[in-house]
Amino acid sequence: MERPVVVRFAPSPTGPLHIGGVRTALYNYLFARRNGGKMLLRIEDTDSQRFVPGAEDYIIESLKWLGIEIDEGVGHGGPHGPYRQSERRDIYRKYVDQLLKDGKAYIAFDTPEELEAARNATPNFQYDSTTRMSMRNSLTMPAEEVEKRIADGEKFVVRFLIEPGRDVVVDDLVRGKVTINSSVLDDKVLYKSADDLPTYHLANIVDDHLMEVSHVIRGEEWLPSAPLHVLLYEAFGWTDTMPRFVHLPLLLKPDGKGKLSKRDGDRLGFPVFPLEWHDPKSGAISAGYRENGYLPQAVVNFLALLGWNPGDDTEIMSMDELISKFSFEHCSKAGAKFAYEKGKWFNHQYLQQIPDEELAELFKPILEKHGINPADYSDEYIASAVGMVKGRINFVSDLWDNAAFFFQAPESYDAKAVKKRWNAEMPAIMAELIEQLKQLKSWKSADAEAEILQWIADKGYHLGNVMNAFRLTVVGECKGPHMFDITELMGPDETIKRIQKGIDNIKADE
Ligand code: GLU
Repeated sequence: MERPVVVRFAPSPTGPLHIGGVRTALYNYLFARRNGGKMLLRIEDTDSQRFVPGAEDYIIESLKWLGIEIDEGVGHGGPHGPYRQSERRDIYRKYVDQLLKDGKAYIAFDTPEELEAARNATPNFQYDSTTRMSMRNSLTMPAEEVEKRIADGEKFVVRFLIEPGRDVVVDDLVRGKVTINSSVLDDKVLYKSADDLPTYHLANIVDDHLMEVSHVIRGEEWLPSAPLHVLLYEAFGWTDTMPRFVHLPLLLKPDGKGKLSKRDGDRLGFPVFPLEWHDPKSGAISAGYRENGYLPQAVVNFLALLGWNPGDDTEIMSMDELISKFSFEHCSKAGAKFAYEKGKWFNHQYLQQIPDEELAELFKPILEKHGINPADYSDEYIASAVGMVKGRINFVSDLWDNAAFFFQAPESYDAKAVKKRWNAEMPAIMAELIEQLKQLKSWKSADAEAEILQWIADKGYHLGNVMNAFRLTVVGECKGPHMFDITELMGPDETIKRIQKGIDNIKADE
């Protein structure tokens, strides 16, 4: 029988969500939506040692910014709550007791010092069938002693009793059937009396069962935990509802080998976190995609293609399109290089889709930051200026470098261009140009262009030199949008003023 699709994103709040975690959340979401299923957000915070304040809010805000919608979970509620594991203490107790009662787990009293000594005495020590009978636990002690120690308040843990020599099969939708022999597994700690909380291992698995999770989709680094998932489901008698697994390929360094790390981002200049993160302890700030000027659609599209493809060459896909095409069939097993330059390309593409009027609104605060009052210009003026340069930008912040001249006359002139284009005759030719412009029948770009080019031809002037000198006076350098589009927007007064300023200030290289 096909089960309803239920997936969960289950981060531990140990710091900011890494971009790899974002991709995991995204694939969970795409798969759930594609299959008419549900997506849960569960916070796995049973390890109080690693808890970082603010991490949970950060995770929720990141998902919201990216448009990854949660159906059930922390911050949303739902029938399987609470969704924070630290609040589910009472729920877990029963499952620990059940395993103990069935002889599938046992109590161990070994202190950290004793474990350390065992590790030092035996190379590659592992708490398992080969060693457990020489340790201090309920398998090696009389029952009365175990009871007395517990009654006396001695700290203990509960360990899972793993039978050696069994092939455990993890059925993974991307990797196929992965077989692991149980002899390599250790008797994992499932519960610690010191915290009166289960460890990640038990809580994660009990919750998957109670929350009716049908697919466990997570990063490849969790593959070693999967056999335990299988064995615990068996121990509890839940095999009929065993989730299907998907272990996603690693995100790799953009250059060279190995796993993508924060250091790669610092070294090559790209964020590895969705939002800016302020470390509550050190106060250090780590860059975020949002604050660095990325659009959430671009980040989603970029991440979706790191490890998956739609089966053809399509690259630009909205969230809805991604949902309609998503399946694990086209998911790769091999790690995906984090080609961050491609992320910029996506951002560029998505910026082109934003209407000029909206981009103009995003540009206004940047204008203000540079001492320009946007209210001095009409909305149409700003939108047209933005529209002319947006083909050259990867980020909204790039607008200033490309469009500043629309709002302030050049204060200086590109020296190389002056050397190349401005000779002793140029002031006189520019003065003539002013006269020509004053007589133009129309300031419309195409009309003005036709008349001015005709004048240059009639005079036998050098087209490139004159047009570049003209541009130099208006823009300050020899680049930018089409010259007569610029002057049409700026209008005659400003254009002529700038040419005059150029004549007065640009000195030809003698
Ligand atoms: N809490 C684990 C994490 O931090 C969850 C792993 C899983 O999805 O099972 O990623």
